[in-house]
Amino acid sequence: MIIGEHRPTKLVIDRAAIRHNIQEEVQRLPENCELFMVVKANGYGHGAVQVAEAAKAAGATGFCVAILDEALELRAAGFDEPILVLGVVEPKYAPLMAREKVSATVAAEDWLDEAGHYLALSQPREPLRVHLGLDTGMGRIGFQTPTALKQVIAYLDDHTAAFTFEGMFTHFSTADEASTDYFDKQVARWDAFMAVVPNKPRYVHVTNSATSLWHADHNVNIVRYGAAGYGLNPSGKALQPPFELKPAMRLVSELAHCKQLNAGESVSYGATYTSTQDEWVGTVSLGYADGYERRLQGFHVLVDGQACEIIGRICMDQLMIRLPRQYPRGTKVVLLGRSGNQEITLQDLAEYCGTINYEIACGFTARLPRRYV
Ligand code: PLP
Repeated sequence: MIIGEHRPTKLVIDRAAIRHNIQEEVQRLPENCELFMVVKANGYGHGAVQVAEAAKAAGATGFCVAILDEALELRAAGFDEPILVLGVVEPKYAPLMAREKVSATVAAEDWLDEAGHYLALSQPREPLRVHLGLDTGMGRIGFQTPTALKQVIAYLDDHTAAFTFEGMFTHFSTADEASTDYFDKQVARWDAFMAVVPNKPRYVHVTNSATSLWHADHNVNIVRYGAAGYGLNPSGKALQPPFELKPAMRLVSELAHCKQLNAGESVSYGATYTSTQDEWVGTVSLGYADGYERRLQGFHVLVDGQACEIIGRICMDQLMIRLPRQYPRGTKVVLLGRSGNQEITLQDLAEYCGTINYEIACGFTARLPRRYV
């Protein structure tokens, strides 16, 4: 996708905020526990490589991604830290992963059979680093019983030329909720898994942002730290973080046009908005093709420290707002961030859209340039 370099609409990414959010967490970790920054989905929309740089400067010692291409992006950018792909990669890419020293998540024994076949054909033969995924109740990927875990560990012991048993992990699905009932069930299942592994691999990990913020006593030796690193409260507003999370993303633009509308005139597709009095209307060069969702009609932006309602349907590339008075073209418009003593957060946008802050951050498209401060 073409990046909109020649328009004033942009995402501004605050690297100092990312460093703050990571440093605060690193300080809370026990000595033997590392922080791996989760930079999947282009660093939750913030830019994977730039976030990885900031994270490394703040004390992250490794990275997690969702898909192999995201790991390769980091390797191409020169990162030589451990990288774990959290999703299941097709076994045919095992040799590429081994060559790039990218660790694979393994969720089934037949995956190892198939990956082993490809590794045997590759030259030079390098072992693939693997982390066993354990399903304690997320219901997504992973071995489901301690018996299956024992069996796959025996398999790995028999195939040390092909695989290095580097880690095992699980994922908690409710660590961001006030109730700990389901969390406790997952912990009990995890303990049952651990009971059958006398010799632990180098990395044993269970912690996402929420687990690390609110259940830190469960940290083993890696925290897989995503949302909180970007200043997002993983619980929305349900739980308070133990330190200040600083938002790292702002979305800003300028008025592209300003005009007076007479009473009774309508705005945008479907003519869903009709003014009841004469009013000033501004147009902003941003739309749903940028990931600014059509559902945000009726929400607001900030101009000159004042909330201005988004009127009429949001178009693919433009949206209209009601202004309190005439403003010149080029006047700053804040769609996410602070203006005067007002602020719009990702959480505000998420609540309005009936979703979570993660989805809004990831949803901004590649057409929006990311500027790093
Ligand atoms: N670990 C796994 C397996 C994940 O899927 C994710 C993100 O979805 C994370 C860690 C990071 O979670 P968070 O962004 O809530 O810190």
